[in-house]
Amino acid sequence: PDEAELEALQHADVAALLPVPRAESDKYRRGVVGIAAGSARYPGAAVLAVAGALRGGAGAVRYVGPAGDAVIARFPETLVSSGSPERAGRVQAWVVGPGAGDDAEAVAAVLRADVPVLVDADGLRLADRDLVRARRAPTLLTPHAGEAAALLGVSRDEVEGARLHSVRELAGRYGATVLLKGSTTLVASAAGGVVRVNPTGTSWLATAGSGDVLSGLTGSLLAAGLGALDAGSAGAYLHGLAGRFAADGAPMGAHDVAEEIRSAWRDVV
Ligand code: AMP
Ligand code: MG
Repeated sequence: PDEAELEALQHADVAALLPVPRAESDKYRRGVVGIAAGSARYPGAAVLAVAGALRGGAGAVRYVGPAGDAVIARFPETLVSSGSPERAGRVQAWVVGPGAGDDAEAVAAVLRADVPVLVDADGLRLADRDLVRARRAPTLLTPHAGEAAALLGVSRDEVEGARLHSVRELAGRYGATVLLKGSTTLVASAAGGVVRVNPTGTSWLATAGSGDVLSGLTGSLLAAGLGALDAGSAGAYLHGLAGRFAADGAPMGAHDVAEEIRSAWRDVV
């Protein structure tokens, strides 16, 4: 790829983006992030997305879905409800999809909301492209190579062999910002222009659930007011750094990554 088309965020760039509460802030002004994730089969995805979101700078995390008991047991500060995201109360940004199974209606309900939306995992398969294209508020899609391949109708190897082309192509097709995960994470906006490349990370992040932590963290940054390109690149940067701190040369689980987000944040600011 042409190096001029890529831009790596540095510590100082990320530090300038991270939200800090002001003296007059309250939890609502800091932003409420809604998490529509998890299922009876995959309750853990909801817990991990909430774990990431609680460390991303929003003032409150609202969870909507069938895994509320598991979420509350681990994180009592979460505002939990069941039923449709439409009736969950006000949020400043939504995360939809991790472990969501086949709940297409929840995905559609979130996409109809006029706030920023991050779509990950099962949500990517269930999201109607025309509904995404019709949105006025920002949309951020966060596929790994396999999910990107399914959306583009090509093989996983084709995506891995042409990652810069693939992330731009998806952003154009969906009219959305796209964060393509992997050993190097790329973030492209629908308008084109420079693609951000994440310089942090470690191959120890190739572990179940680590993407769910990234979606919660990044959704929280969206709720705190960052744009989709900035939230995606700052989220990937912190997540990669947290992964390095958590692993420190030994195997880890995704919940360990969530716990190191705070050290990553302190390291950056
Ligand atoms: P997911 O596949 O949705 O669980 O997301 C996996 C997360 O781990 C993403 O943030 C990836 O960028 C990261 N990741 C996966 N494999 C690697 C790797 N080999 N090197 C660095 N990061 C990785
Ligand atoms: Mg995933």
